[in-house]
This record gives sequence, C-alpha cells and structure tokens, in this order.
Amino acid sequence: MTAPDPGDGGRGRNADADADAPGPAEALLLLDAREQELRTRAEQAGAELDEVRHARTATTADDEHDPEGSTLSQDWSRAVGLREAALAGLREVEEARRRVDTGTWGRCVRCGGPVGAGRLRARPTAALCVTCAARSARDPLRG
Ligand SMILES: [Zn+2]
Repeated sequence: MTAPDPGDGGRGRNADADADAPGPAEALLLLDAREQELRTRAEQAGAELDEVRHARTATTADDEHDPEGSTLSQDWSRAVGLREAALAGLREVEEARRRVDTGTWGRCVRCGGPVGAGRLRARPTAALCVTCAARSARDPLRG
C-alpha cells in the first residue's frame, strides 16, 4: 500500500508536471528573458574581443618576446567561445518561438512527450525531454 516509488529521484509528481507546464504566454515571457540575457552576454563577449584586438595591435611590433602573447590568445579563444555560445542560444530562442507559434513548444521534438514544467522554466529553449536529452548527450551520432 505505502510502497515507495522507486526511480523517480524524489520528485514523485510526474503526473502533475504536464498540467503545471507553462502556457504560450508564459513561454514567450520566458523566451524574452532568455533572449535579453543572451544578448547581454554576446555584447560583453564582443566588447572583450575588441579589447583583445586592441591589445594585440598594440603589442604586434614586439610579438617575439611578448610575455602576454599567450594570455591574449587565451582571452581571445575564451571570448570567441562565449560569443558563439550566446549566438547559438539566440538561435535556440528563435526555434523555440517557432514552436510556440505552431503549438509544439513544451513537447519533446524527438518523442513527443512533455518536456516538463520545471525543465521548461529553467530552460525555455529545451527541445528535448530529459530522457531524450540524456540519450543524445550520451550517444549524439545515433540521434
Ligand atoms: Zn523525448
């Protein structure tokens, strides 16, 4: 009668996850907030790239024994990585908006199951449910 529910990691209210899922209006608000955050990050990374570019230009003449040379290229790669990640995130926001338009936002694009309310609020661009996301992270080539 009071058997514990195994394998649910303590969340235990899976049936409620879908009923509590955010609707399209909340989806757009979540996506707007996410977009703002990503734009800020992309701008910060862009500003950092400008700084490194200037620093590089200033030291080019003495490149051979520039003690900061490697630091600069590390800064550069890091800022490029940050900007790429932000831009990729913005593309995900666009895709998620299209799913809101077509009424498929909140559904896993792979298995059609619910992505889950908590996951959507934490990551409104999530296109996969936890199960499919874990599977594709483990085995990306098999899709
Ligand atoms: Zn799925």
